[in-house]
Amino acid sequence: MPLYVAIDVMNAVVLTMVLWAIIRRTLVRPHLIPWTLDAGLILGAIASLMLTHFLFHGYEIAAHLGAGGALPPELPVSGLVGRALGPMAESQAAFGKTAGYWLHILILLTFLNYLPYSKHIHLLGALPNIATRNRSDRKMDLPKINLEDDTQWGVGNYQQFSWKSLLDTYACTECARCTNYCPAYATGKNLSPMQLVHDIRYEMLDRVALQDRMDETKRDIESAAQYAAEHDFTEDHPYPELLAARARLAALEAESTALPKMTGGRIAEDTLWACTTCGACQEVCPVFIEHPLKIIQMRQNLVLEQEKTPGELQRTFRNIERQGNPWGIGADQRMDWAEGLEVPTIEDHQDPEYILWVGCAGAFDSRIIKQTRAMVKVLRAAGVDFAVLGHQETCTGDPARRSGNEMLFQAMAEQNVETLNAAKAKKVITSCPHCLHTLRHDYPQFGGNFEVVHHTQLISHLIEQKKLRPEPATDGGAMTYHDSCYLGRWNGEFEAPRAIVSAVAAQGEVKELTRSGRHGFCCGAGGGRMFMEEHGDRVNFNRADEIIASGAQTVAVACPFCNIMLTDGMKQRNMDEKIAVLDVAELVANNIPDVPLSALVRRKPA
Ligand code: SF4
Ligand code: SF4
Repeated sequence: MPLYVAIDVMNAVVLTMVLWAIIRRTLVRPHLIPWTLDAGLILGAIASLMLTHFLFHGYEIAAHLGAGGALPPELPVSGLVGRALGPMAESQAAFGKTAGYWLHILILLTFLNYLPYSKHIHLLGALPNIATRNRSDRKMDLPKINLEDDTQWGVGNYQQFSWKSLLDTYACTECARCTNYCPAYATGKNLSPMQLVHDIRYEMLDRVALQDRMDETKRDIESAAQYAAEHDFTEDHPYPELLAARARLAALEAESTALPKMTGGRIAEDTLWACTTCGACQEVCPVFIEHPLKIIQMRQNLVLEQEKTPGELQRTFRNIERQGNPWGIGADQRMDWAEGLEVPTIEDHQDPEYILWVGCAGAFDSRIIKQTRAMVKVLRAAGVDFAVLGHQETCTGDPARRSGNEMLFQAMAEQNVETLNAAKAKKVITSCPHCLHTLRHDYPQFGGNFEVVHHTQLISHLIEQKKLRPEPATDGGAMTYHDSCYLGRWNGEFEAPRAIVSAVAAQGEVKELTRSGRHGFCCGAGGGRMFMEEHGDRVNFNRADEIIASGAQTVAVACPFCNIMLTDGMKQRNMDEKIAVLDVAELVANNIPDVPLSALVRRKPA
């Protein structure tokens, strides 16, 4: 398409979109996208630019028609305007053409000057932000804090953010998608990821403005002092301008000192603690803004520097420190889950193909222990060569890291990496997406480089290879699958669990939830929220309601936290006897024959 045609058509499209935006803001009035003076000025300026384009070209074409010419095909929309104006003499069209041209230029230049002060600043910020976006598969790229350097533990003030995080704040288009998809916001918490991004920018602008005023006042003091020296002013006979400037500076310094830290001040503590680190905001952001990273960095500051850790989390951190699990159950009970299964430990069976990473929920939570035992049955049925770390395993530190306790996380990471390296682990399999994420993405920062596989990936592979042949269930009705945020959005695995569910669903009846896949709705447990109180409407109840409305009688999960949260949700809604919450390993284990234990337990070679 020739450039002129594209410009003419695009101008019409833009004008239509602006009209729709005006109608939406003034009539539909979504509460996250309000009508403001700023929005009015911007929409008015864009609409005027398009209209003046048509005005100029419309009159130009009218004059062209008046001179006996034909409609120019390269300006289809302006051609319609020209035809509507009717053929006219060049002298008649001159005023319209001139007005269209100069108005267009005037509005454009005014708009460009207004741009840096308006929310339309994203026109300048979005493109560089997209160009410099995080392209790694470690999408939540948390930097390892140097704990020896006590000048920066997390982010307390805007200056401590990286340049990229600050650029993020200039890229926001205020589309509100992040907030619309946020489970914390959806359940009435004091967290809007869009507002959070803006608050960081407002904090920066206010602080910079205050600093500018202080710098200017210092310059006033210098020049007043010079004038005072040159004109015989003394301490007893002071120069009034100098005194006034000094007083202004003292007031500005007092104002600066009185300002609270950004973290815990403008950005409230409850805002930061409400986040489940589900990543839904980041996933939908058209300009690749990373909200969860900023939230965790600010949590680090609350925990490590300001000592403002909520009580429940203090208990959780203590439990991890003392017993190596967030529940504080005696570390000596870590292998109780395996009673009667004769599961090989790394001491019994060295150099296995897989280390089965059990995880704290898998080892200590009574509901999840059933899931872990099912996993052992599945691995044995497929003849997978594995061993567990037994009492050498301890919490990965995921709840500590996502809740800002980097110090505790680093201690856990170092200990686990040492254990895994000593076990010469090459492949690690886990049914917990939080452990998966930490082992796969965080541990390389500590020298732990393993191939980490989620159990859904291994099981679906084994089914594909016909090493597992689960029978489709004969009863139980329709099934659905609830996406785990840490398996799906953060680690890109959406298909493997679905393949397993399809393989075992009765008559293959699988219903997709409305909020699924990349737009799945969190269970509410991530980011340490599993161990925190939740007041008001709860994220897991909200998700349970959606599952109930789907009509499914079984909801498959692929994460122990999702399992616990949804089981609780079903109980709260009195649906626990009608809707089963089952891990995919349990679904498979329930539909394969039992394997004689003696045939499959691997023993240390004599
Ligand atoms: S990570 Fe999830 S809970 Fe946190 S702000 Fe984003 S959407 Fe909300
Ligand atoms: S999704 Fe991204 S661009 Fe849209 S409001 Fe949120 S942060 Fe801004």
